[in-house]
Amino acid sequence: MNLSLKRRIYLDNNATTKPRSSALEGVKKALKSWGNPSSTHQNASQSKALLWSARENLSSFLNCHPLEIIFTSGASESNNHAIKALFQNLETQSHRQELILSAVEHPSVLTTGDFLKKQGKTVHYIPVSRKGFLDEDFLEKHLSDKTLLVSIMKANNETGILFPIEKWIQKAHEKGALFHSDMVQALGKEKIDLKKLGIDLASFSGHKFYSLQGCGLLYCKKGIHLDQFIHGGSQERKRRAGTENLVGITAFGEVAKEGEFIITESKRLRFLRNHMEKTLLSSLDNIEVIGQEAPRLSNTSCLLIKGIPAAESLMMNLDLKGISISVGSACHSGKLESNTVLTSMGLTTKESLNCIRISLGLENTKEEIDYFTKTILSSIQYLRNLD
Ligand code: PLP
Repeated sequence: MNLSLKRRIYLDNNATTKPRSSALEGVKKALKSWGNPSSTHQNASQSKALLWSARENLSSFLNCHPLEIIFTSGASESNNHAIKALFQNLETQSHRQELILSAVEHPSVLTTGDFLKKQGKTVHYIPVSRKGFLDEDFLEKHLSDKTLLVSIMKANNETGILFPIEKWIQKAHEKGALFHSDMVQALGKEKIDLKKLGIDLASFSGHKFYSLQGCGLLYCKKGIHLDQFIHGGSQERKRRAGTENLVGITAFGEVAKEGEFIITESKRLRFLRNHMEKTLLSSLDNIEVIGQEAPRLSNTSCLLIKGIPAAESLMMNLDLKGISISVGSACHSGKLESNTVLTSMGLTTKESLNCIRISLGLENTKEEIDYFTKTILSSIQYLRNLD
């Protein structure tokens, strides 16, 4: 059966996920309640209640206090907010001017680091090996009483590689430094217990968790002082001004109620992903799974496919056959640019241009993955014959 004739096969869930019906129920609820949550009359009370209930649902899923959540426009804002607001607070942290990041962070973290560098701060980038392991000796060496913040993502968006943040939160605290993590890709795939982790700040995004684009949150542990990032009204306890995105927040909170189920599904996705990788590796030569030996998210596969013109051509070929995957490279002014996550891990530019990312989500079935595996095998053979 040609599944592509029936519906497209979506394998780009690390870019965004299709909203669940619970998210749509949240949208409907919020649209009925259009009062401004900051007003004090009766039109506002239902909006206020919705806002609080979303905060409670999310805090219960993440195991933190509802007031430790700051709603934002997404994880890019949360990452910017966490890092910049701490470094702005010079009064309390004047002797600590250093930031430590992994070299494979999302651009919203890396470019915030570049911004701080221009302001005279010192930024250290922890190397990550081709196999996907953090250079822990580097981290140990650079973590000192000058460090204000360590920011290491829990899971990488391109490769799915998981980093051992649990251990480094403790080590950062022993040196008096704070710890932030971009946990966007881990949400709904790994169990997250913020209290147990003891982390200071963590960023999340709704649209990577079957909710809406344009809504995220920043977890800020009680007692951590963040300077106000968006100035204005007193929303989000004076840390992030602006009338709240009630639609996005309510949807996010509704999906969080299904969080345990979503995590349980990771087992099934891991089985499908592993089965797909095994079939590809045993059917063709010159394919490498990036980070195969490192701990990885259940849903992500980053494949280096040699002998094809470039991953873009494979992506377009699959797109025409009804399958959505992604490549990390981007086309700027007619020239392909390599993926910095992969080149930071030691892949050559040519290798990084030959990598694709397959990221599964809740809706993918075994039938789809089998169809995808067969299709990509024939597409690779076709492109290799052209090259
Ligand atoms: N961090 C990671 C690891 C991501 O994958 C993304 C999105 O691609 C972001 C941050 C940014 O999230 P948002 O789209 O909510 O700004």
